[in-house]
Amino acid sequence: MDFRTEVRAWLDSRLADTPAPNPRAWERELGKAGWIGIGWPGEDGETYGNRRATLAEQVVWAEEYARSAAPARIGHIGENLLAPTLITYGTEEQKRRHLPPVARGETFWCQGYSEPGAGSDLAGIRTTAVPVGTGGYAVTGQKIWTSLARDADWCFVLARTGPGSTRHHGLSLLLVEMDQPGRIEVRPIRQMTGTSEFNEVFFDGARASETVGGEGNGWQVAMGLLAVERGVSTLAQQIGFAQELDQVIATARANGTAEDPVFRARLVRQWAELATMRHHALRTLGTTGDPAAPSVAKLLWGGWHQRLGELAVEVSGEAGAVGARSWSAETPYELTDVQHLFLFSRADTIYGGSDEIQRNIIAERVLGLPREPR
Ligand SMILES: Cc1cc2nc3c(=O)[nH]c(=O)nc-3n(C[C@H](O)[C@H](O)[C@H](O)COP(=O)(O)OP(=O)(O)OC[C@H]3O[C@@H](n4cnc5c(N)ncnc54)[C@H](O)[C@@H]3O)c2cc1C
Repeated sequence: MDFRTEVRAWLDSRLADTPAPNPRAWERELGKAGWIGIGWPGEDGETYGNRRATLAEQVVWAEEYARSAAPARIGHIGENLLAPTLITYGTEEQKRRHLPPVARGETFWCQGYSEPGAGSDLAGIRTTAVPVGTGGYAVTGQKIWTSLARDADWCFVLARTGPGSTRHHGLSLLLVEMDQPGRIEVRPIRQMTGTSEFNEVFFDGARASETVGGEGNGWQVAMGLLAVERGVSTLAQQIGFAQELDQVIATARANGTAEDPVFRARLVRQWAELATMRHHALRTLGTTGDPAAPSVAKLLWGGWHQRLGELAVEVSGEAGAVGARSWSAETPYELTDVQHLFLFSRADTIYGGSDEIQRNIIAERVLGLPREPR
């Protein structure tokens, strides 16, 4: 059986006629079947519990996953951010300790970088980590916009270990276990979609036993993530985008909007830009040396997805604008898929580095233009 057939058969058999599994149970199933971390390298045939796959097979897995009706992953921060960081900068002991539970779908991670005064300007981090007598560090400070912190067992936290240090000096990346009552508090942030995927996280002397990449090297490690091979997840994301665009086109056809030359032109533009994104992703797939590629990709998809959200609402006419009243106190209004797409896509040009920051990176590091004044 070829790899695509195997992936499809597994997803079909797991998802057919069964109610949507709860996110944790689903991660365990993925882990048990060996589908987590399939891109992780290993030496001499050794793995960290993951299944080995070629780059082409990783693309196939991601594409088929996006095509299926499989649930959104809650394990992706551990698999796609923490794991590549550990693989590049961690010790063998750290890899052996942390990667297998991620591969089994048992341990979930969140990313503690942003702070109220340190988002785009990440070097403004004020959270501190001071050594404690028993070994390790005590972490104190506040993180914000921490996605999935309520589901997470661990957080990788960028904190200041150099006393009196400033900017990108004296930072370390620490691994912090989340189950520390009284020392870590997670407060959900209610979004305009009515849901709370991200959170504020308060650390009050939380214990961390280890750094990744050594004390004082946090900036290098944090930035190293940007050099992690890109492309596989982007291609899968584009399958999801294509499905959303197809849905908008189907609505436009059904209600006649597609006959309007202005809407038609906008739909065609979305289609053509998606084709460009795919070309860019394929061109840069597996490359690590092109400093512009991640920024160009982010600029292409963030704005595209936001425009798709706007178009989806407009194409839907009145139905796009009017929400149904809900009787739940948690979400006072119910959103249609189109409305959810519109509202959530407002974040697309912000997270993972805003559009303005991507343009600065391209201008300064790729085109060699003068640095912006500080
Ligand atoms: C959905 C979502 C999930 C997130 N998940 C996480 C997470 O899990 N972990 C985490 O650590 N963070 C997370 N973030 C935070 C995200 O990384 C930050 O929001 C982002 O880096 C921007 O920082 P900020 O919000 O502080 O905005 P600011 O940095 O205050 O920026 C505000 C505006 O000013 C612009 N701006 C800032 N500096 C410049 C400049 N030099 N030149 C031109 N324009 C500039 C920005 O582009 C932006 O438009 C998430 C954010 C979102 C929206």
